[in-house]
Amino acid sequence: SIQLQRLVKRYGGLEVLHGIDLDMAENEFTVLVGPSGCGKSTTLRMLAGLESVSDGDIVVDGRSIAHLDPKDRDIAMVFQDYALYPHMNVARNMSFSLRLKKRPRDEIDRKVRATAEMLGLTPYLDRKPGELSGGQRQRVAMGRALCRDAGIFLFDEPLSNLDAKLRGQMRAELAMMRQSVRKNMVYVTHDQIEAMTLADRIVVMNGGHIQQQGTPSELFRRPVNRFVAGFLGSPP
Ligand code: ATP
Ligand code: MG
Repeated sequence: SIQLQRLVKRYGGLEVLHGIDLDMAENEFTVLVGPSGCGKSTTLRMLAGLESVSDGDIVVDGRSIAHLDPKDRDIAMVFQDYALYPHMNVARNMSFSLRLKKRPRDEIDRKVRATAEMLGLTPYLDRKPGELSGGQRQRVAMGRALCRDAGIFLFDEPLSNLDAKLRGQMRAELAMMRQSVRKNMVYVTHDQIEAMTLADRIVVMNGGHIQQQGTPSELFRRPVNRFVAGFLGSPP
């Protein structure tokens, strides 16, 4: 389980997250939605340890991780801007973390092949990121995260760069993967369909606050205000 407790982020004098409280149950798929600048990426980056915590705490399975080094956190993240290793081919990008952990060669190969198959990347395993389209790179970034054996997966708009058809396919793949890979996942998206189809729980953020959280149907049927209603496309 993951708990954010009165989590605050300040950049210099400016507070951008104003004390977020969030309780994510074991293996829950949590989706963060909200307008640009509301603090979604900042929340993920603090979870991953890429941004310091200004105040409050992050507790995973009962233990505070707020001040742990990123490499000591059991977390894999897919970034908004991919951040692939340009000099490595797709297969090596995907196997990076398992190779670092010196896992057996055949285990690594199996994992990379299965993940590439799921993401439609099998034909591209020998290519470098520079030889791929934006959508393909995005899928490699997702594959690299999924190949890690982390306990928590963070996704920052992983499908934002795909065309409508591929996005639909990937959404379906993700929904399937979610059944077999039972992990805590925190997923940021601007896409209402993604939020409604993937989430166990949707968290609606606005201006560094949480406006409402609940199951997709709770939020759709009983939005607390017009902002939430508008965001999830339910009738006013
Ligand atoms: P988007 O949907 O556009 O990705 P977001 O919800 O992910 O938006 P964040 O990236 O979390 O938004 O940013 C939250 C706020 O913090 C924004 O107002 C942003 O300008 C500010 N911010 C983010 N990074 C920094 C930084 N390094 N220094 C100062 N302010 C920052
Ligand atoms: Mg963002």
